[in-house]
Amino acid sequence: MNDFNQPLSGNEMPRFAGIPTMFRLPLHEDIADLDVAIVGVPLDIGTSNRNGTRYGPRQIRSESVLVRPYSMATGAAPFDSFQVADAGDVALNPYQLDACIKLIEAHFDKVVAAEALPVTLGGDHTITLPILRALARKHGSMALVHVDAHADINDEMFGEKVAHGTIFRRAIEEGLVEPQRMFQIGLRATGYTADDFDWSRQQGATIVPAEECWYQSLAPLMERVRSVIGPQAPTYLSFDIDGLDPSVAPGTGTPEPAGLSASQGLEIIRGCFGLNIVGADLVEVSPPYDTSGNTALLAANLVFEMLCSLPGCRRR
Ligand code: MN
Ligand code: MN
Repeated sequence: MNDFNQPLSGNEMPRFAGIPTMFRLPLHEDIADLDVAIVGVPLDIGTSNRNGTRYGPRQIRSESVLVRPYSMATGAAPFDSFQVADAGDVALNPYQLDACIKLIEAHFDKVVAAEALPVTLGGDHTITLPILRALARKHGSMALVHVDAHADINDEMFGEKVAHGTIFRRAIEEGLVEPQRMFQIGLRATGYTADDFDWSRQQGATIVPAEECWYQSLAPLMERVRSVIGPQAPTYLSFDIDGLDPSVAPGTGTPEPAGLSASQGLEIIRGCFGLNIVGADLVEVSPPYDTSGNTALLAANLVFEMLCSLPGCRRR
């Protein structure tokens, strides 16, 4: 046994009862003693189509009551490996996106200063930019594994430089991520111009369109990702739930048909084990469009897999 926080067991308190913190872990708003801080960022004013991601962290927490502490597939035991807690939400300003970006950045500066590794529940994808800024102050330019239907490399949206579809252009321009060690997986569907994904390629990033993922295991792809990034490079994992197919993840704002399967999503995250992950997020879950709760349930399981892929996570 160890002294780390353990999820409240479903045999101790029924899963439908009690207060739904993430994975039924204790709430630690004081993060000083944490190895891993699970942070909610309930933002949706950076979205361009359907909204509702402000309810994402709460709904992912609620569905996470069904996640148990061991991965039966990999033997990973994150709660035997790290001190993890639900670190609560960032208090946002629901009227001003610019103010929110500053609030998120300042919040994650504190997480970084406390030497806790942030695993974040979104929120729309805009949140990743201020998180990357805070992490880059410690780690410098990072490698990036980005799962998404969209490249999120617009120069601007409605004249705005920061919105959920511009963040990775900003991240490259600001030197937060290293394009030669950047993979964008699951991109697809329709664009405004035929060369919409080319800006990423021109910077040196690797694009893996959904079509290259169809009908196959993504384990070989992840082997390639690990060999290009290497075991040392500080690496950020950003998982936009719309990278997955709307049949498994309908509860999102910008759904695109013919995406990745749930099992391919697991393979990508499991394939990150062996990388030096310094932070991860799961974004774009929109509960108002998630009538069954399955999107948030899948998101909670993907976040669990993220914990399992953090450096040093023990296997049984
Ligand atoms: Mn996105
Ligand atoms: Mn997307």
